[in-house]
Amino acid sequence: MKLFTIFGNPVSHSKSPRMYNKCFKFYNLNNYCYTRTLLENGEDIIKLFKKLKILGASVTVPHKEWAYRLADEVRGIAKEIKAVNCLILEDDKIVGYNTDAEGFMESISEWKYSSVLIIGAGGTAKAISMMIPDAHILNRSKNRLKDFTHTTTYTWDNFTNKKYDLIINTTSAGLSDDNLPAPKELLESLLKNAKYVADVIYHETPFQKLAKKYNLPIKDGSDMLVYQGVLQFEKFVDFKIDKKEVATLMKSVL
Ligand code: NDP
Repeated sequence: MKLFTIFGNPVSHSKSPRMYNKCFKFYNLNNYCYTRTLLENGEDIIKLFKKLKILGASVTVPHKEWAYRLADEVRGIAKEIKAVNCLILEDDKIVGYNTDAEGFMESISEWKYSSVLIIGAGGTAKAISMMIPDAHILNRSKNRLKDFTHTTTYTWDNFTNKKYDLIINTTSAGLSDDNLPAPKELLESLLKNAKYVADVIYHETPFQKLAKKYNLPIKDGSDMLVYQGVLQFEKFVDFKIDKKEVATLMKSVL
């Protein structure tokens, strides 16, 4: 059996097993199986990868930075983002990659915008910020903002309200709680001037519910999930895939 998994905490909500197992089946990879693994301590990620004899893994909240630090080698954009969302066993090495940024950009490819605010400053925010470097960053606390020296950053306390075409929520607020990613009044002042809203969480969050009141086009994280997944799937199987076909298959099980 060739084993793949997703490491996260929480992880029970993850739709990844359905997406990848559907595609393994489509390609007749009958001895391939993708599971969920609840990982409490990110420091154990590589130890567990080896212990479970896994060939490839997706990495989600809050372990992407641990995966970056502990992988034997990190390649591509993950080196700049300093976060890994995909680990692959290549020869004897566990190699880390990041497919989130490309996946997100593909998901909003039809929108036209000139000013962007990213809410959140974690791994996903870093990934998206690599692709939209002039986007401003708004985060709950100060510490993670030190990773965004190339652009303007704010905490809730010093945010000077501006007009942004596109507002992107990259925080985990609303993932498994009822939190908004910033104070309600602050969000309302942003939403009334915005053209588009994107949220990387793939179920309806309190933020998306609030944005709906402003009749804006809203993307939840499903398309990003699919497109970053297509890129990971190609690494898992290590042969050229039809990306459109794999995206359609993955969407069919969401
Ligand atoms: P990180 O743990 O790296 O960062 C989390 C960020 O969220 C931090 O900026 C943190 O702020 C902020 N945050 C957490 N809770 C709250 C809250 N209650 N209010 C305001 N801000 C909060 O997470 P990631 O960047 O890896 O992931 C973030 C989200 O992106 C997750 O929900 C994940 O599921 C989703 N995701 C979706 C993908 C998709 O394919 N659709 C792909 C990748 C991620 P602070 O610094 O103050 O702690």
